[in-house]
Amino acid sequence: MNKPIITLENISFSYNGNHKNALRNLSLNIADGSVTSILGPNGAGKSTLLHILLGWLKPDEGSIYLKGRPLTDYSRREAGQMMALVPQIEHMPFDYSVLEYVLLGRTPYLNPLESPQDIDVSAARKALEISGLSHMETRTVTSLSGGERQLVLLARALTQQPHIILLDEPTSHLDLANKSRLIKILGELHRAGSSIILTTHEPDVAATISTEIVLLRQGQILTSGKRDAVFSTQNLSEAYGVPVRIVEIDGQRVALWT
Ligand code: ADP
Ligand code: MG
Repeated sequence: MNKPIITLENISFSYNGNHKNALRNLSLNIADGSVTSILGPNGAGKSTLLHILLGWLKPDEGSIYLKGRPLTDYSRREAGQMMALVPQIEHMPFDYSVLEYVLLGRTPYLNPLESPQDIDVSAARKALEISGLSHMETRTVTSLSGGERQLVLLARALTQQPHIILLDEPTSHLDLANKSRLIKILGELHRAGSSIILTTHEPDVAATISTEIVLLRQGQILTSGKRDAVFSTQNLSEAYGVPVRIVEIDGQRVALWT
């Protein structure tokens, strides 16, 4: 395994006023350059885990290391240059154009109150092109469909030029063509050496995209490791609490349940 880019040690977390732990004693190494899917049913704690990795939520117990250094030692700016999130949904203010919104990804590179420079606009336009949104740069973000918004959030993260990209249920609003575009973009980022961490409740997304899978249930890691080892009938049945079958179609493994 490549050196870990992120290490979690005994992480536990509960939301204020909620005595049930959303995450319970998680320990995990995420390999640099991997595509790691955090897979599990609704409410398993996947989004909570991403927010913990970003430092946006503070664990009640345990430690997180980013490149071997405690995450708490990083400034927001440093962390923002290293990691970007593609959130599941986000409230978008009405008066932003697509280009202006995507330019927000440059914030970790700008000084307070500094306006974006040409280099920032080029980075944003490049990200829009990769995301297939160049023709939409002057549209207002509120006029977009759910899938188009998800791609705008992807473009904003790409504009941030992070080494680690985190995506929360990135395919949830995408049609088939855009799903395959996203998978292609993630594949290119992977080949370029980025580390990719995504959450999904869909086993087939994890089977298609990942090199590693972390199977999460009720705030605990059931199992984690290489994709093909984790993606088994027994593991998926246990995670989802229903009998799951795996069939192979054209070399691709697909999970079916009855
Ligand atoms: P997933 O992303 O796997 O669907 P989440 O991380 O969103 O799961 O949620 C994990 C658990 O924490 C769930 O039981 C959920 O109800 C709870 N939870 C999530 N967000 C909050 C919150 N802001 N306040 C209290 N409980 C929350
Ligand atoms: Mg979630």
